[in-house]
Amino acid sequence: MHDAPKDLASYQKALHESLENAFLRKALDKFAVDYRTSRTNVFKDVPERELIAQIAADKDRSCKRLDELYLQFKQEAEKRGAKVHLAKTAAEANEIIARIARENNVKKITKSKSMTAEETLLNHRLEQDGMEITETDLGEWIIQLRNEPPSHMVMPAIHLSRDEVATDFSRATNETLSNDIGKLVKVSRRELRRKFIEADMGISGANFAIAENGSIAIITNEGNGRLVTTLPKVHVALIGIDKLTPTLEEALTALLVLPRNATSQRLTSYVAWIGGATATTGSEDGKKEVHFVFLDNGRSELAKDPLFSQVLRCVRCGACANVCPVYRLVGGHKMGYIYIGAIGLILSYFFFGRDKARVLTQNCVGCEACTDICAAGIDLPRLIREIRARLNDEEGAPREVGLISSVMKNRTLFHTLLKFAKFAQRPLTGGTPFLRHLPQMFAGEHGFKALPALASTSFRERWKTIRPNVPKPQRRVAIFAGCAQDFIYPEQLEAAVRLLAAHNVAVDFPLGQSCCGLPLEAMGQRSVAAELVRQNAGAFDSRRYDAIITLCASCASHIKHAYPSMLAGTDNEVFKTQLFAGKITDFSSFVRDTLGLDAENFVNRGQKVCYHASCHLCRGLGVKDAPRALIDACAEYVQASEEELCCGFGGTYSLKFPQISAQLLDKKLEHYAASGASRLVVDCPGCVMQLRGGAEKKDMNLAVTHIAELLAEHLKR
Ligand code: SF4
Repeated sequence: MHDAPKDLASYQKALHESLENAFLRKALDKFAVDYRTSRTNVFKDVPERELIAQIAADKDRSCKRLDELYLQFKQEAEKRGAKVHLAKTAAEANEIIARIARENNVKKITKSKSMTAEETLLNHRLEQDGMEITETDLGEWIIQLRNEPPSHMVMPAIHLSRDEVATDFSRATNETLSNDIGKLVKVSRRELRRKFIEADMGISGANFAIAENGSIAIITNEGNGRLVTTLPKVHVALIGIDKLTPTLEEALTALLVLPRNATSQRLTSYVAWIGGATATTGSEDGKKEVHFVFLDNGRSELAKDPLFSQVLRCVRCGACANVCPVYRLVGGHKMGYIYIGAIGLILSYFFFGRDKARVLTQNCVGCEACTDICAAGIDLPRLIREIRARLNDEEGAPREVGLISSVMKNRTLFHTLLKFAKFAQRPLTGGTPFLRHLPQMFAGEHGFKALPALASTSFRERWKTIRPNVPKPQRRVAIFAGCAQDFIYPEQLEAAVRLLAAHNVAVDFPLGQSCCGLPLEAMGQRSVAAELVRQNAGAFDSRRYDAIITLCASCASHIKHAYPSMLAGTDNEVFKTQLFAGKITDFSSFVRDTLGLDAENFVNRGQKVCYHASCHLCRGLGVKDAPRALIDACAEYVQASEEELCCGFGGTYSLKFPQISAQLLDKKLEHYAASGASRLVVDCPGCVMQLRGGAEKKDMNLAVTHIAELLAEHLKR
């Protein structure tokens, strides 16, 4: 039933199946757009960022005292007549629950939605003992009838059409049912009511386990949770120990965010608080048995990990899937093992082992949409990259990755090879800036965009001749170029230098700089990436500059956020790195906020210009307004749909998953074509490569340039 890809080739095949599923594509596309709008609206009445920070801090504190919270919960719950168990492993949890069922002579079980029970494969274990288990959440019941796993943590059947559900219900009831949703819901109610009444035992999960009063909270939208936990004579709740919360107040804080993030609701329809064994008419002696089974399954080890302990903050809202552009294309069955979305990729490694995680963790484009929206502020893309590094450490990197690493580590060798490649590419360019005549391996799936040629003269080769003389500079900056602009798009840097010099800024370009190391980090090559940190921080005498400007959002975000923690060197090296990272500034922010340029400084010829907000700029650095204001200052800014949606580049991602990269690119280009603009500007050379290459391939009437080029062209003399 649950399946994880064994190798990249079989995974690619499975991804194709999803991409060809027209219903899935349409449903997830619509959901992704609607979700963003409704989520924005529902967060208007609460301080979103403060609440998320509060949840993160609360959960981190709890994580450090799980043993203590468990003991407190147990004591309090037992005072109220509940029995509390602790299972080290998934198998142990299943055995405890199977024993409780046997001891109570249970034959029929109703169950409300529980991802923890999915994690332990509880249904399979109980079915082995001959018990009948009925899922009672509508989505869960649908997928149970199909013998499928959930494709979303909150909306398990989102991948299915009403026709498919009608077929499944018809088969289950021996009736011929239409695809009328209202009627199908009535059928499920009729069928499930019988099951609720017949059940000897109810199994639930829990969203919170409150240590101070020994109660649990279950939040649902269908009321089935209440029927499962109250009607049968036995109630068992299976709870991850990460759900332990010291106080009711902390649970209520999380409750302000969880439903808003999950389903854009202020509050779910039902919030049930269960505080022990109450009287019941379901048993002969009028007593109810309530068991709280806590599951560890690696969580207490995870809690000790200084980086990965944040995984235990997760409140299972599912939002990291809702905004993931890859999930939007392929759905949850291809985007996790049991747990879905970004958190699913991470949990697959810790809960189910590296066999399950190895291939899945490759499928992250690194757009940071998930971390931007996470209810618990988990740095999901970083953790995914870190797992790749761990897998490389544990199993060794693929040969080609090792080869790339040794070249990148040696700046002289890397740059010499690029020089050689520049000559070697001549027969392929046909005199254009693109590689037009590529070998067969770049055709087919890889042929969705025109690839750029290396520039005939790199920026570092041009520097001596273009270096501006600014006699009395008001500011002094250095440029960090990154590989793409240094060797492919030097004209973008030249445009920036022209603009800066025109506004009395002295510009420097230290030649000892190299690749920022992000592609290596993304491939899990941590030690080589750290070596590049040392090289780059060492190449700049950062104290001399007011700012170190980079026109590549990916380099800027990586240097700013990752560099300070990557280098375990001497105190002097660490100091240099922190200083270097602290001075890094993106081009648009420097131009608008530091230089203060606005419409007064530009000639506006009324060109219609649209904008792509690069992931690492708008989310990585949180820069949203500056580029838009600058476009508005020198052109007619035309807002396109989903400006902040990833273009599908993701560095090596577009090479590894070209079929997904192509679809993401198509969506963006559709939006830009609809905008009516003749020019698209971007703040990152990687996105220029993707979007320009796609526009060229489709022969679109859309010029794609860096924002620096637009601004330099419209400078007032
Ligand atoms: S990782 Fe964050 S966004 Fe994803 S399910 Fe957990 S809390 Fe929600």
